[in-house]
Amino acid sequence: MTNTTTLTKPVFITADWNAPKNVKTLITTRVGGFSTGNYGTFNLAFHVEDNLEIVEKNRQILSQHLPGNPYWLNQIHSNIAVDLDDSQSLAHVTVSGNINADASFTTIKNTVCTVMTADCLPIFLTDTSGRFVAAIHAGWKGLYNEIIKNTIELILNKTKIDIKNIIAYIGTAICQKHYEVNHELFDKFTALNKDNEQFFSHKPNHKFNCNLAGIAQMQLKNTGVLNTNTFLSKQCTFCDSELFYSYRKQSITGRFASCIWLE
Ligand SMILES: [Zn+2]
Repeated sequence: MTNTTTLTKPVFITADWNAPKNVKTLITTRVGGFSTGNYGTFNLAFHVEDNLEIVEKNRQILSQHLPGNPYWLNQIHSNIAVDLDDSQSLAHVTVSGNINADASFTTIKNTVCTVMTADCLPIFLTDTSGRFVAAIHAGWKGLYNEIIKNTIELILNKTKIDIKNIIAYIGTAICQKHYEVNHELFDKFTALNKDNEQFFSHKPNHKFNCNLAGIAQMQLKNTGVLNTNTFLSKQCTFCDSELFYSYRKQSITGRFASCIWLE
């Protein structure tokens, strides 16, 4: 038997950035769902071995606060971005309602671009006129495979928007202090771009702490997004574990969602 009512009202937050008024965001937290234990309480992911019926109930709560059902991606740490305006792309929707990709974008009102994370970066994009929205999931693999650049290039090709008008929000992910990585990752990123060295701090145990948000911010800048148009969450999934799921804190855990749409 599962509860039929939630005990606590869901706590949702919005991106703190200077997007136009017709751009809406909703970021879920752990608060206000039906999941229990490590998944408590608002897990939205089916793939983490939580009770599937409970996850479905959590997703239904979320949908009540959105203008439509979110387009859930089957996230594979790729650099694939899907255009949700394109019915060909949507033809790749699998039986479970998922698309294999790590980013989506749209110019159509009330189409909800969504990513799920628990330490990886959720990134939102729009422009100063609110003509499109995008959501990106980027862990180190996505950053290494340049999902940010790929997504922006697809959007610019489609919309002809000037890159100087793009606005980005780098959402809550794991902070540098809590993200320990090995030497191989340092080697990979510095081989990709020597400037990445600044985002790795040496530790006495020959490991490094990696600043994922810093890498993302630099990649946005290198793609042409103005620093003044890039906004960063001040929170950390590991530090703020009352609100967010953190895979590094508990390897068995849930996922929270970052949703963006045009009104
Ligand atoms: Zn932290």
